[in-house]
Amino acid sequence: MTFKAIATPTRTKEILNKYGFSFKKSLGQNFILDVNTLKNIIEVAGVSDKTAVIEIGPGIGALTEQLASHSKQVIAFEIDQRLAPILEDTLSEYSNVTIIYQDILKADVEQIVKAHFSNLQDIKVVANLPYYVTTPILMKLLMERLPISSISVMIQKEVADRMAAKPNTKSYGSLSIAVQYYTEASVALHVPKTVFTPQPNVDSAVLHLKLRETPLVEVIDETFFFDLVQASFAQRRKTLRNNLTRYFSQDYSKEEIEVRMKRVGIDGTRRGESLSIQEFADLANTFL
Ligand code: SAM
Repeated sequence: MTFKAIATPTRTKEILNKYGFSFKKSLGQNFILDVNTLKNIIEVAGVSDKTAVIEIGPGIGALTEQLASHSKQVIAFEIDQRLAPILEDTLSEYSNVTIIYQDILKADVEQIVKAHFSNLQDIKVVANLPYYVTTPILMKLLMERLPISSISVMIQKEVADRMAAKPNTKSYGSLSIAVQYYTEASVALHVPKTVFTPQPNVDSAVLHLKLRETPLVEVIDETFFFDLVQASFAQRRKTLRNNLTRYFSQDYSKEEIEVRMKRVGIDGTRRGESLSIQEFADLANTFL
């Protein structure tokens, strides 16, 4: 099938011209023109003929057709209705693909997964995401606790680095902790701009998230934990003591905050970026 793959410059151009399609930058439409990149994404994701795949943003179907031929079944969410006649054409040979024309952020993904994948065990998310909504999409998928085993997505490299970052690095912050609370995160591939049309302004990477069965740390109140993490990074160059004193100024005195930090063995002169996720959990729990 490779000889007529969608993800080549000639075939993509042919499809775009046939339908007079114009890219919408506001929808993050950068289509892939390289079959090898798509195969690498599928390999990173560990897709097999038993896998049920959720794709977000099929575009003209470049990744979708590769997923369809390597997996059991694919559901793809696409916000842009203008792509409907194109996808009907480009994916006409694949009976195992369902396209749902909805904004993924508004879709009832759990219900749709239940309805389509009721007897399938191995459910994975694989996508070349629209970069303007990467974080909201990933946080929605994680926080809804869907029955998925992994998420493998092409995103902006800088965001991938932040999501997979370890303590004491420039990229480590509240996003790293939010993502790693739910998953084991790793940056699997770097992808050059040249494999896209139109070329994005930023570098890309494939992020692999393996979902944890239970969150990495035990916290008494998740909302409070994530608020405390945010507060600790509010001003990166300030000490933990300063950031927390400012955040909790209505609720706790400086001394009370000091007592709690001491209780869990955390020195207030440290910066948020040096705390492990376990240390953040211990600190949050000692306030409750
Ligand atoms: N999968 C194709 C590829 O790899 O060539 C296209 C990827 S393109 C980076 C992102 C796709 O996501 C576009 O087709 C865009 O219309 C779609 N999209 C943007 N926002 C969306 C949303 N909120 N929900 C679903 N799809 C969205």
